[in-house]
Amino acid sequence: MKLYNFLHRKVEEFIPLKSPVGMYSCGPTTYDFVHIGNLRTFIFEDVLQRVLEANGLEVKRVMNITDIDDKIIKGAKDAGLPIEEFSKPYEKVFMEDLSKLNIKYANVYPKATEHIGHMIKYIEELIKKGLAYAREGSVYFDISESPGYGKLTGLENISLKEGTRISSDEYTKDDVQDFALWKSVESTEVGYDSPWGRGRPGWHIECSVMSQEYLGNTFDIHAGGVDLIFPHHENEIAQAEGKTGEKFVNFFVEGEHLLVDGAKMAKSKGNFYKLKDLEEKGIEPVVFRYLTLTAHYRDKLNFSWESLQGAHNALNNLREKIRGWNEEIGLSEQSNLGDNLFWQRFFESVNNDLNLPQAVAVLWEMVNSDTTTPGRSKVLLEMDKILGLNLDQYLGKTIEIPEGVQKLIGRREEARKTGNFKESDKLRHEIKKLGFEILDTESGPKIKKTNAS
Ligand code: AMP
Ligand code: ZN
Repeated sequence: MKLYNFLHRKVEEFIPLKSPVGMYSCGPTTYDFVHIGNLRTFIFEDVLQRVLEANGLEVKRVMNITDIDDKIIKGAKDAGLPIEEFSKPYEKVFMEDLSKLNIKYANVYPKATEHIGHMIKYIEELIKKGLAYAREGSVYFDISESPGYGKLTGLENISLKEGTRISSDEYTKDDVQDFALWKSVESTEVGYDSPWGRGRPGWHIECSVMSQEYLGNTFDIHAGGVDLIFPHHENEIAQAEGKTGEKFVNFFVEGEHLLVDGAKMAKSKGNFYKLKDLEEKGIEPVVFRYLTLTAHYRDKLNFSWESLQGAHNALNNLREKIRGWNEEIGLSEQSNLGDNLFWQRFFESVNNDLNLPQAVAVLWEMVNSDTTTPGRSKVLLEMDKILGLNLDQYLGKTIEIPEGVQKLIGRREEARKTGNFKESDKLRHEIKKLGFEILDTESGPKIKKTNAS
């Protein structure tokens, strides 16, 4: 399996460090509902997990929940609620959105507020190593003591300003310098006691601490959206490798953004959509999942209502086509997956840096092909283990063929093949009486449920 490793800016063979494969992704900040851009990234990460699993690898997934930061504190204050109460509904809807989109749950969703003690210890170690220093109740990471700084982003892409210290969570590329590991707060503000006085952790430290706590000092994959490459992921590397002296992550996999009508989503532009907005227009969440699969994760995806409608039509077409695949139930399922050319091409595509658009095209080729591929239902379901489109709910449905009928179908097929048409006609009538009709088509017999049953 090949993946684009942002650390080296090239596609590389993915070789797991150990089993299970450790995969960390940056999760939501619970000050608002997640938007469809966030969800695009979560779907791409889910597909990555599913492709690893299709390669026979077990995966341990960890995704943090940032439940303390400036925006949450402000939101809670404005709403007149304690932090936790303010965050809870956003976290709940986030989890519901994941399951509506068939995104497999991570093994752990560690929360920043539950790891404050660990973060303090981690920061103390960075100070001991001379990589961080305390000033006026805050603690800063000293970039000048981190020789590898810039390895992810490329130093040419970072403009450092001498003497600037960033204490806010909201960075811009231009004003980075020593970043805050711990921020001092007034006694009236939300905070925690620490060796440096009352304060709260910076955002970057939480990901280094929680990823390493659950996945070890060095792990396989760190995923997120491209906006996090700098400074967030860069700072995570500096903290983690500074503390342990070991490599932090083997593969950084970064997904491109979703745009709405060609522009960045913004509340002020009125193009800021959540899954609920799609559902209110009668669009099933899985249609959005299908849409995201039609663009490569390293390309921008332009969302529009028209493109969503297109995805809806395509998915509905697919469902209708595979409803008619009843002929295969109980008839021709003997073939080996690996021998199937469509499966081979599909699997090659997903293993080639998650080329899902190509994989979806192969699926369509199979669905539209004139000749019936032996075992194509099996192949389709195997493909759907990666795509996650609930195709099993449509394949050969509405029909549940009782065992007795399946046996008759088998006997009729046998009679037909041996030229015993009298017997085959008799069996066809028997089958019909039980509420099923056999249609002999070019691609083999198809079975329909009739009104009789
Ligand atoms: P945040 O809550 O902003 O930290 O984002 C959670 C995840 O969504 C991160 O992996 C971000 O990189 C990603 N993300 C944020 N905005 C977008 C977008 N417009 N398109 C795709 N992914 C995004
Ligand atoms: Zn993170």
